[in-house]
Amino acid sequence: MTDKRKSRKERGDGARKARLKNAIGKVRNSFLNALFPRYVTCDVCGEEITVKSRYCLCGECMNKLEFVGEHVCLVCGVPMSDEAEYCMRCQNVQSEFVRNRSPFVYDNTARDIIHRLKFGGKKYLAETLGAFMSDEYLKSRMNCDIAVYVPMTEAEEKKRGFNQSELLAREVGGRLNMPVLPALVKTRETATQKTLGGKERAENLKDAFVCTFNEVKGRRILLIDDVFTTGATASACSAALLKGGARDVSVLTAAVTKLKIPVESGDGTSAI
Ligand SMILES: [Zn+2]
Ligand SMILES: [Zn+2]
Repeated sequence: MTDKRKSRKERGDGARKARLKNAIGKVRNSFLNALFPRYVTCDVCGEEITVKSRYCLCGECMNKLEFVGEHVCLVCGVPMSDEAEYCMRCQNVQSEFVRNRSPFVYDNTARDIIHRLKFGGKKYLAETLGAFMSDEYLKSRMNCDIAVYVPMTEAEEKKRGFNQSELLAREVGGRLNMPVLPALVKTRETATQKTLGGKERAENLKDAFVCTFNEVKGRRILLIDDVFTTGATASACSAALLKGGARDVSVLTAAVTKLKIPVESGDGTSAI
């Protein structure tokens, strides 16, 4: 039923229910915070944090994280072992976005954190990843006006209960004081990306995203997702934003896969 067709009473009930849900959520969060206070135990191994850290990770887990390092592909942000400026992927493909940057290589500890956020429902991990992503944004001198996250269809979001990219975008937006807009809509379900190659991924995502917000016009957009694999999702979302009038699109993801071709671990990442 649309809002227009709902009676005043039903709308009032809906608003009351939302307020009640919010209030219950707040009580629940303060209860959980009292039971499991943040920044006391490590998000990854659960050990007590002995050295003060803004990342909610113990020293040992921090050391296990693989950062991308200083020399990365100028477009996709993948670590480069030689002196080239562009990786093989970006030498051969024209991307719709200006660049992607990620703090981590999608491997071991970073993958573990992202999996526990997405598939384990540990939403608080978005806070930790968001802190690293905000640092990466500042370090790589990106200059954007609005953050937009990669959307899910309603059914996909209902199934998971949340959209991890939205959680990451809200963390990053909050830390950088940047507005976060739900400017993109995913118009249809897409086949799982993990078994597809780069070209097939692009075909699979063709016209799957639409920009529905005029506010993107003339703005520099920061597109946020969890993992960057081939750039197919990033390109499809960027194309929709550019079509909507965005000036340009930069991408910020928690982790980038080292592999040029998606030989993934069968983990069902959204593979941006
Ligand atoms: Zn730890
Ligand atoms: Zn590249």
